[in-house]
Amino acid sequence: MPIRIGRIQRDIEAIAAFTATPGEGATRPTFSAEWRAARDYVADQLHACGCEVRIDAAANLHARPAGLSWDEPAWLSGSHVDTVPNGGDFDGVVGVVVPLELLRAAAEEGRGNLPLELAVFAEEEGTTFGLGMLGSRAWAGTTGFLALSIAHNAAGESYLRAGQPHGVRAEDIAAETVQRGRYLGMVEVHIEQGASLWRSGERVAIVDAIAGRRQYRARLQGHANHAGSTSMPDRKDALACAAELILALEALAPELSPRAVATVGEIACRPNAINVIPGEVDLSIDFRDPDNAVLDEGHRRIEALVTETAARRGVISLLDWSEALPAEALDVAICERLQAAAERIGLGPLRRAASGALHDAAILAPYIPTAMLFVASRDGISHNPAELSRFEDIAAAAEVLWELVKE
Ligand SMILES: [Zn+2]
Repeated sequence: MPIRIGRIQRDIEAIAAFTATPGEGATRPTFSAEWRAARDYVADQLHACGCEVRIDAAANLHARPAGLSWDEPAWLSGSHVDTVPNGGDFDGVVGVVVPLELLRAAAEEGRGNLPLELAVFAEEEGTTFGLGMLGSRAWAGTTGFLALSIAHNAAGESYLRAGQPHGVRAEDIAAETVQRGRYLGMVEVHIEQGASLWRSGERVAIVDAIAGRRQYRARLQGHANHAGSTSMPDRKDALACAAELILALEALAPELSPRAVATVGEIACRPNAINVIPGEVDLSIDFRDPDNAVLDEGHRRIEALVTETAARRGVISLLDWSEALPAEALDVAICERLQAAAERIGLGPLRRAASGALHDAAILAPYIPTAMLFVASRDGISHNPAELSRFEDIAAAAEVLWELVKE
């Protein structure tokens, strides 16, 4: 097998060094100097093994072996190098260094025309410009000029403006979108970011579905009043209402399906004072499942929960959607080919898994037949400096992909 663990390790460690928070995890906001240094490192490695590198109009990097034209059908594999603040060294990076190692191995073997295109997508995390998978959305054509001119970073610069020095060309955004005929399929390698593989001692899994996501903003309007002189029956406490709602949402998820998850991650209480009954609470709701029927059912139940809980307490409620992304079933044929590849190299049979997190693959799945490979994450920890995946497990995923692509 021409895949070398040592080179994969070297790449991950080299990219990890590009961080705005040395010693405190990976911090590479999109279009920052650290992000650019990581993308440049990948580009340098690609040039060194004889690849052609292009930056598309949304600042995503694409690379192909020089012996393969940009029009020939090829496999696509890639992920991201941007991170959340104080994130880990493996999220996204693994999905970039695996196809990089394949292209390097191919060059060594004299396969200067391996049908593989590597992609590094910009702003996957959404922590810099407020919306995840922006680079892949732009390339897929689902997020256009207008959205990219509105999305802005903490400095108030739009994606179009902040991305200019890194290759963003506003005038070409609409034209430079994915050409379906150029791709045999897309396989994104990613760390699991959950504990299930690590716990069971499995190294790699095939992802055949990506959970859809509904996100909401709820406002509970009660009545702020004196904490001493207002009797308990006379209160319209917005925070107590929120507390009941949060617990009800926690109980709702496992009732809907074993894979459903519901989270209230953000809450604001007003006036937030020790001697005032809370008058108003804003909270977020994030709800996910890999089955669209469950998402629909969950939506109805969430609406009913908010309305009923508030009404029972004499609190006024408002519920707004902020996002609705459908669940994506990934490509059955590619999943089977990955399974066959894993068995041929003695790694299979691999478990089938659904991804609870969203990835660039979810954005591209409607346009290119897509599947994913998950690599075990130590204790399921991610978006944290303690994030870790074993280099030998990453190399195992690379070998499965190599077996598929070289056919
Ligand atoms: Zn990621």
